[in-house]
Amino acid sequence: MAISARCGVCFLRGTEMNFRIGHRRRRIFEGKAKVLFEGPEPGTLVQYFKDDASAFNNQKRGTIVGKGVLNNRISEYLMTKLGGIGVPTHFMRRLNMREQLIRQVEIIPVEIVVRNIVAGSLAKRFGLPEGVVLPRSIVEFYYKKDELGKPMVTDEHITAFGWASPQEIDEIMALSLRINDFLSGIFLGIGLKLVDFKLEFGRLWDNDELRIVLADEISPDNCRLWDVKTNEKMDKDRFSCDLGRVEEAYQEVARRLGIMPEVAAITPESEKDK
Ligand code: C5P
Repeated sequence: MAISARCGVCFLRGTEMNFRIGHRRRRIFEGKAKVLFEGPEPGTLVQYFKDDASAFNNQKRGTIVGKGVLNNRISEYLMTKLGGIGVPTHFMRRLNMREQLIRQVEIIPVEIVVRNIVAGSLAKRFGLPEGVVLPRSIVEFYYKKDELGKPMVTDEHITAFGWASPQEIDEIMALSLRINDFLSGIFLGIGLKLVDFKLEFGRLWDNDELRIVLADEISPDNCRLWDVKTNEKMDKDRFSCDLGRVEEAYQEVARRLGIMPEVAAITPESEKDK
C-alpha cells in the first residue's frame, strides 16, 4: 500500500519510513491536511500533519511548506492549554515534528464555527463588511459532509438525524463558548484577534461515562487570526486568497506563541540544498 505521508523528522516517503523503522502502520483515514494511523495502544491513533492545503471545499489545492510541523506544535500548545482549564481534548502527547498521539473518538459529524468578527462566509451570506465586531459571539453548525459542500444546519437537523442528542449539543455549545473566551485571550495576549474558528468534537467512553471531547486540531488552518494593530491576516486566508507570505504567517503565529521550531527543521531535505 502506497502511503503518501512523509516521516515528520526525516521527510522520507511513508512506505520508506515504515520500511526503515521496521514496522508498517495501518492508515485509518486520510483527510485534506492530516493522516490518521493506528496508534500503539488500543483506543489511540497517531495524527500526522501534512503540508497539503485546500480551500473553497477542496476546489483550490496547494502546499504550504512546513505547515504540518507548525500546526502540530500550535495545536499541541493550544490543546494542552485548554486541557489545563478542564476542557477535555483528544490530545495525549506530541510524538515528533509531524505527529501527535491522540485518543480515538467517535467523531460527531457536525463542524462548529464560532465567530467574533464578521469575515468569510458570514460576510458573503449577509452582505456585511469584513471586520465588524459582532455584538455577541455567534455559534454555527455545519454538517461535516464534503460531497454536499458542508451545508449549514440547525440543532433541529442535528437531533432529528441523530448526529447528536440535545444534551450533547448543550455540552458542545458550552464548551465552544468557553474555548472561544480562552483562546481569544491567548491570541489577544500575542497581538492577534481571534476572528472566527472551526471546532470538531467526538465521543469517548471514560470510566463507563460517555464524554464529549474536543478533537481535530486548532491552528491557523481553522482559525482566522488578524494582527491587532494592522488587521493583517495571519492564517489560511493568505493561501485561499493568494495574499502571499503564507509560510511566514504560520511561522509568525508560532513565534508569537513562543513555540517556533528551528526553521531548518521545518524545511524539507529537498529544499535545504537550494
Ligand atoms: O468560511 P467561513 O467563514 O465559514 O469559515 C469560518 C471559520 O471556520 C474560519 O476560521 C475557517 O478557517 C473555519 N473553517 C474550517 N473548515 C471548514 C470551514 C471553515 O476550518 N471546512
